[in-house]
Amino acid sequence: MTRKVEVDFGLCESNGVCMGIIPEVFELDENDYLHVLSDEVTPENEQQIREAVRQCPRQAISIRDE
Ligand code: SF4
Repeated sequence: MTRKVEVDFGLCESNGVCMGIIPEVFELDENDYLHVLSDEVTPENEQQIREAVRQCPRQAISIRDE
């Protein structure tokens, strides 16, 4: 089973909190549009992704089982 990062772009306000925690996964482009660079949750990035989930002020990030 793999786990994927999901962002609800309807909730996201592009404040970049997630990018500040783990820029390898979340990136805001020059138009303030958030991109998920790599959506797979791995043992290496899981802790930081969970931190981003916790700290997102819009609660826009979730982790989904596939
Ligand atoms: S922390 Fe949340 S609201 Fe901010 S850019 Fe990331 S997903 Fe969007």
